[in-house]
Amino acid sequence: MIQLENVVKKYKTANGYLTAVNDVNLSINDGEIFGIIGYSGAGKSTMIRLLNGLEKPTSGKVIVNGQNISAIRGKELRNARHKISMIFQHFNLLWSRTVEENIAFPLEIAGISKAERQKRVLELIELVGLKGREKSYPSQLSGGQKQRVGIARALANDPEVLLCDEATSALDPETTDAILDLLVSINEKLGLTIVLITHEMHVIRKICHRVAVMEAGKIVERGNVLEVFQSPKAEITQKFVSQVTETAGHKESISQMLEDYPNDQLIKLFFVGSKTEQPVISQLIREFNVDVNIVHGNISPTKSGPYGTLIVRIVGDTDHVAKAIQYLDIQGIKSEVINNAE
Ligand code: ADP
Repeated sequence: MIQLENVVKKYKTANGYLTAVNDVNLSINDGEIFGIIGYSGAGKSTMIRLLNGLEKPTSGKVIVNGQNISAIRGKELRNARHKISMIFQHFNLLWSRTVEENIAFPLEIAGISKAERQKRVLELIELVGLKGREKSYPSQLSGGQKQRVGIARALANDPEVLLCDEATSALDPETTDAILDLLVSINEKLGLTIVLITHEMHVIRKICHRVAVMEAGKIVERGNVLEVFQSPKAEITQKFVSQVTETAGHKESISQMLEDYPNDQLIKLFFVGSKTEQPVISQLIREFNVDVNIVHGNISPTKSGPYGTLIVRIVGDTDHVAKAIQYLDIQGIKSEVINNAE
């Protein structure tokens, strides 16, 4: 388990002190994939450096695997850090070493025998899907393959926690998905805790169990990913969620509808979990004698179930439309009347 208690980190700058992390309290469970999202300057990298002991908090406690990382030093800290590994946006590989030599590097530092190293490197190569590339140099690999080397190297000493610093930000969308799938399979196979920082909501949606949203050094929102997607509260969270829920053309089609049918109700419906599979729209049409035109819709899978939004135009007698909306409410489907395209 990882625990941050009243953690503050201030940096001394030419203009006085800058508070990068401002009184953060956070618990991350063993075996969890936990995401920290925020824009540049929010304090995410400082959080990661506090978690692996590279930075000491100005005040507060950082406890990882039962050890107060913020209080230990020297050999004790080095030993604790063996159990906290990290992967990076730009991979940080050794360019003059082959794939297998890169992966063996942390084992050499830990003083593991050559025979043992070779065995472990083979296992890791298999685990991350790099068979056949053992003798390649980083310059001969694609971005995704380089990150696979980074992951294998990070896992060499059997860590309990894997920290991911924007690990997919330098990769194209397809490669990003493959690396995220690999992180999920490692999390499931090895049971290790993964903490990732990112500015991309797609990453959070795809693999995280829980998320914390950071702004100006503070956690402004946190929770189960599905709940946060369903009802984001802070303005910044709403912005992040809209990164993955809104598709091009969506605003235009709403403006057009509002202009063309000023007397009809445009309604946004929010579906969560099993509700995404129920035939509520067809029931609505049958039971309430209304017509439903779909303007825009999407369903996204998250680690804890699907969620989706559907924007519909309900056409019919005012009374029937009101009853239809009431019915949706009874079914537990949140709805919102749309008056403008924003
Ligand atoms: P993020 O990773 O979310 O972009 P950072 O943790 O890198 O955010 O930075 C948070 C704030 O702390 C920023 O204003 C940044 O300029 C400042 N900062 C980070 N590291 C240092 C440092 N070593 N010295 C001074 N200011 C720093």
